[in-house]
Amino acid sequence: MKLKILPERAKILSSYKRTEEPIPFLFDPGIFSMKRVFLQAARFALSGVLVSSVMLGGCARRVPLTPTGPLSVSGQPLAHAPRNIYHVVGPSETMWRISKTYGVDMQTIMSANRIKDPTKIKNGQRLLIPNTSGPRPMIPLFPTRRWTHIVVHHTATHEGDAFTIDQMHHKRGFWNGLGYHFLINNGTEGKMDGQIQIGPRWIKQMDGAHANAAGMNEKGIGVVLVGNFSETQITETELDSLVFLVKILMDYYHIPNANVIGHRDVPGKSTECPGNYFPWAEFKRRIA
Ligand SMILES: [Zn+2]
Repeated sequence: MKLKILPERAKILSSYKRTEEPIPFLFDPGIFSMKRVFLQAARFALSGVLVSSVMLGGCARRVPLTPTGPLSVSGQPLAHAPRNIYHVVGPSETMWRISKTYGVDMQTIMSANRIKDPTKIKNGQRLLIPNTSGPRPMIPLFPTRRWTHIVVHHTATHEGDAFTIDQMHHKRGFWNGLGYHFLINNGTEGKMDGQIQIGPRWIKQMDGAHANAAGMNEKGIGVVLVGNFSETQITETELDSLVFLVKILMDYYHIPNANVIGHRDVPGKSTECPGNYFPWAEFKRRIA
């Protein structure tokens, strides 16, 4: 089954749900120095206050946000007949997120994998997910005004997932690994075509490492599609998922269509990314 794109803005807004997740960067100091944790916390709190004050000022376009926590939007599952699958854990993925994504409760996944402590799962670990009907996109949204652009990339590889691209970026010298905020799978590495994975840089609201020009790493949300669209076409399901994700981000952060760009459109960049076969006209029409 394909992702259904919600046709009207009102429907998208009504699907906003508060997540039960803790705010990861306040609870995961291993990634940061304490100074960084405090700076992140302060920035997050401030952005909440800013959003709240915009709302109190009578801006009806904002959905009600709480200053203290993220929300998430979930979409239709990429469904198949219930089956057991193996999921390779990506960076920053938690048992909570994996359980919600596959619609299988945490206890079932934990006993199937003889895991006692759900906080001990590791990047790259293979987890048996019993009897899942397929992954459901879960897009966390954080109240902030920093994101003004969305930059679309391809991996320029034929295969990959959040784990393998994270490994690649670590090898390339990116200390924080996966340089993009979101990754959309193409059906390789055991992931389903169109499956959306959330990178640690999004969960922790960090700068990207995907377009080092025009301040785009600081203000641009980096979304990568697995594939090489200089050589092959994007799959229909991948494009559906990209449209779904980008529309949610545009809507929530008030990003105009003109600010949704390809890596090749970042001023100062000479790259073909996301490839000459990427269907710009169709994509732009669908997010309009
Ligand atoms: Zn790129």
